[in-house]
Amino acid sequence: MNKSVRVRYAPSPTGYPHVGNIRTALFNWLFARHYGGSFIVRIEDTDVTRKVEGAIKAILDGLRWLGLDWDEGPEVGGKYGPYFQSQRLEKYHEVAQRLIAQDNAYYCYCSTQRLEEMRAEQVQRKQPPGYDRRCRNLSQEERAKKEAEDITPVVRFKTPLEGQTRFNDLIRDDVAFENSNIDDFVLLKSDGYPTYHLANIIDDHLMEISHVLRAEEWLSSTPRHLLMYRALGFEPPKFAHLPMILAPGRAKLSKRHGAMSITEYYEQGYLPEAMVNFLALLGWSLDDKTEILTRQELIGNFSLERISRTAALFNQDKLDWMNGVYIRSLTADEFFTAVEPYLMKDELAGKALISSEKYVKDILPLIQERARTLVEVAELAQFFFVEELAYDSTLLIGKNMSRESATRALEVSQQRLGQLEAFDAESLEVVLRPLAVELGLKTGQLFGTLRVAVTGRTAAPPLFQTMAVLGKERCLRRIEAALDRLRGLSS
Ligand code: GLU
Repeated sequence: MNKSVRVRYAPSPTGYPHVGNIRTALFNWLFARHYGGSFIVRIEDTDVTRKVEGAIKAILDGLRWLGLDWDEGPEVGGKYGPYFQSQRLEKYHEVAQRLIAQDNAYYCYCSTQRLEEMRAEQVQRKQPPGYDRRCRNLSQEERAKKEAEDITPVVRFKTPLEGQTRFNDLIRDDVAFENSNIDDFVLLKSDGYPTYHLANIIDDHLMEISHVLRAEEWLSSTPRHLLMYRALGFEPPKFAHLPMILAPGRAKLSKRHGAMSITEYYEQGYLPEAMVNFLALLGWSLDDKTEILTRQELIGNFSLERISRTAALFNQDKLDWMNGVYIRSLTADEFFTAVEPYLMKDELAGKALISSEKYVKDILPLIQERARTLVEVAELAQFFFVEELAYDSTLLIGKNMSRESATRALEVSQQRLGQLEAFDAESLEVVLRPLAVELGLKTGQLFGTLRVAVTGRTAAPPLFQTMAVLGKERCLRRIEAALDRLRGLSS
């Protein structure tokens, strides 16, 4: 890279940032960090009508949560600021004036009503939509007349009527567009705000952006941008258009597959490191097999060459699996810290946490192995926290067992456990394993009945460890409650 790398993430606060937006941010960040360049955040807030309250905060919170720190932009500033386009309006006006003076742009006085009628006609005649250039060649007189009508005009770009605009995209190679397919697009709107096209290229130029890495949906905007760069004599940045992200089956992304705001992934208990790893593989890969890569490995290996041209598929199961891998890789302390806010939200777990951090710390290793999200932890651990278990009493009677054999199994267990001094997993196993033989049951039958009695579930973490953490008293109380339930069952 001969020119220093300066890349930007340029979100419009017209909605909450979803997976596609954040993947763009991540790729820009990885590219900057790989080359020791700068990662810039620029807020493209020129569409006043579509502004969404809270979107900017969600965007910045999302970046912070994922650890995508920015070198210039909101909150941190920088020498190319301001980084909000709404604070840079005079720059856009200046350039628009220059384009008009050079005869690369013109005032258009067409009313919204006229444009709508024109569009409807185009649709009817099955013509491609686009401005019909009525104001492109107004005479002096005609213009003077329009001005007198007190209409606030828009400014349109004078797109060349013929020829091609070609460029080399760093991902898709040679790309060409016919100029005749590009209409005279708006640069300045009648509300005085620039369009995306105008503001975007001026800022990329003024902020000395070296590479534009953005979603494929912007590919068709690139020839417009290049025509403007050419008209202004600015050197354009290099472009790289990232592949689309689709849901399995190549459908559009839905809530379940990636269309959720990034902040919801936090809410649902995904770890930022897992999220970064997962997002990095949406369109980029190290090779055709490596799935787990740390942040440092991603930075070290990231390259545009390994970005695919074909759409990436958002696989929710893979994200859940990956999150589980990251959860299991946490140390006990890290896991406790990560899960604490989620447990505190759960009233029962929160109470236990406040009253006995030790109890919670004993529980967590049993859950860490099985949870795929931090939200699931509270759910999986729930039976540790409740006083009374809720379950279907018939579950106490396992396969090929009767109410009597289940009752007997629990009575004898109760008696033996009552005599136990040390209530640790090993001691429990020493007592309970031989008991199955003594009772003429399979170990699975005895343990199954006990598991339901002490956890209320047929699937739970390993039985002896679970019982040890629950403690002697709680286990005996639960066995007694289970016996009550069995007595209540009609035979
Ligand atoms: N503001 C545009 C967006 O919302 C930026 C596109 C670009 O990167 O040029 O994605």
